[in-house]
Amino acid sequence: MRLRRFLSIVPKAVQLWASVLVGCALLIGLIVGYKAADRGDVLRTMSADGGAALVVGIVLAIWLLCLGFVFADARRRAMRSVLWVLVAALFPHLLGFLLYFVMRQPIASTCTHCGQTTPLHQRFCSSCGTPQASSTSDNVRLAVDQC
Ligand SMILES: [Zn+2]
Repeated sequence: MRLRRFLSIVPKAVQLWASVLVGCALLIGLIVGYKAADRGDVLRTMSADGGAALVVGIVLAIWLLCLGFVFADARRRAMRSVLWVLVAALFPHLLGFLLYFVMRQPIASTCTHCGQTTPLHQRFCSSCGTPQASSTSDNVRLAVDQC
């Protein structure tokens, strides 16, 4: 269930490239295994090299899917998506991903007039200037009225 939610956020093109990556890794592993094999041991070498390449391909594909998630998630939160993808990709030991999940902002609202995503705290659309109905200020107003 959580995997489906994760994949619904990752762009379809990134999912396609991750699948292609796994397929290419498996193919390269099989070819390398075939070339490196002795005469009688072709199947064993091919399956060993193909399996190792498949594992590497799956790990790289998962990394690519996570970068795609950061890109799409940062975009829907009106954060700098390319910058956060670079941070997630370049910081060692997954610290970039950790930093992203610590620093990320609430999901942004969409302008009813032009469709531009605007952060929740912003009262007017930065693209067209239309006043934004802020749900947080409405909730605060409701809470104040109830007191
Ligand atoms: Zn707008």
